[in-house]
Amino acid sequence: MKIFSVSVINMAYWNKEIECMPQEEIKKRQLDMLQKLIAHLYKDNKFYHDKMAAKGVVPEDIKTLEDITKLPFMYKQDLRDNYPTKMFTEPIDKIVRFHVSSGTTGKPTLVGYTRNDLEFWSEALARSLTSCGVGEKDVMQVSYGYGLFTGGLGAHYGAEKVGATVLPTGTGNTERQIELMQDLGVTAIACTPSYFIHMIDVAKQKGVDIRKDTVLRRAFLGAEPWTEGMRKHIEEASGVKAYDIYGMSEMAGPMYTECEERCGIHIPWDIMYCEVVDPETDEPVAPGQKGELVVTMLKKEAFPLVRYKVKDVTCIMPEPCKCGRTSPRIARITGRTDDMLIIRGINVFPSQIEHTLLQIPEVESHYMIIVDRINALDVLTLQVEIKPEAFSDKVNEMTDLKKRIENEMKKYLNVAVKVELKESGSLPRFEGKSKRVIDRRTYE
Ligand SMILES: [Zn+2]
Repeated sequence: MKIFSVSVINMAYWNKEIECMPQEEIKKRQLDMLQKLIAHLYKDNKFYHDKMAAKGVVPEDIKTLEDITKLPFMYKQDLRDNYPTKMFTEPIDKIVRFHVSSGTTGKPTLVGYTRNDLEFWSEALARSLTSCGVGEKDVMQVSYGYGLFTGGLGAHYGAEKVGATVLPTGTGNTERQIELMQDLGVTAIACTPSYFIHMIDVAKQKGVDIRKDTVLRRAFLGAEPWTEGMRKHIEEASGVKAYDIYGMSEMAGPMYTECEERCGIHIPWDIMYCEVVDPETDEPVAPGQKGELVVTMLKKEAFPLVRYKVKDVTCIMPEPCKCGRTSPRIARITGRTDDMLIIRGINVFPSQIEHTLLQIPEVESHYMIIVDRINALDVLTLQVEIKPEAFSDKVNEMTDLKKRIENEMKKYLNVAVKVELKESGSLPRFEGKSKRVIDRRTYE
């Protein structure tokens, strides 16, 4: 029997019943999942129990979905305070994976996964990739970092789940990545938008036109903020259709993408419940209004999240999507409510740099962080004042000190930092709130 599948591709669903479920049924099921989750956490985990008790809330108070606002918020600080595993709600023998992201003061943030957690993570990505037309015929190059960072393995498992052939290149060695892309017929790629722009540039220098000399057609770009302007630039320069992908290690990792319509990121209703609140008042804002994203993971086993303040600025899209999916959508992330910097996809807090710096006896407490985008890649420069007694006119001693600071930074931040040593008293002093970060990147 011949199967005609030409125009069906765009209409494909991974799990149609769930993805297109009527709103009323979604609400009913979400409430049921929320009630079960809260009852379990209140009973079985000291962190959640104490937090709810401090606010005077008991599981029976959750009678409607809107009652979620009675529950206390969770913050990144909670993750640090309970490092490593106090917030885990499953014993270690049920945990099959750890991922680690850097914290704000040198202490990392640890997340854990049960087998079911890895399964729904891949399921979320399978739905996402299918909604963009990626399937068994595709070869997907994963150029996110593999390892403690969730990007590589997350995209990898999702692509394998839809039956695509995965090419796990990770980051770096761009010329080889382009060769492999050509040799193996790569049709889709997942990486940061800035790395993809770098790739286009390197390809060009090698005389490779991505549009003509490869069969690459789709790019899933995320882990750092980017704009519609950047999308336009990428698509014009490469002929590739670019999709926004979203997620973070606290949620599981990269999980959610736009569909073919590309008007907001679909959030599977059975995995994550989204609220958007005014960052000043913590009051919910109306759909379409910008605010801070607050998430509750409805089925996470090892490391649940309830009303976690993500600090990303977005809005819930009010209109239903033309693709037929009924899951809520959030708009492209337009900023942060804190001072976190994203350097080549890695989260870096200025406080983390300061903490690391102050462990080095030769330096003063005055510094400046400068972020540039050079050849489409982020470059973090740290200007540091050194103590007069540590200053030497021997060039090799100063070079050694500079290298030592760079190594310490790399070790704690997971990001390469270029250090410039400055004479004591030469950097700006601030009265009141200091401005130690100069971010010169433009995203347009
Ligand atoms: Zn859609």
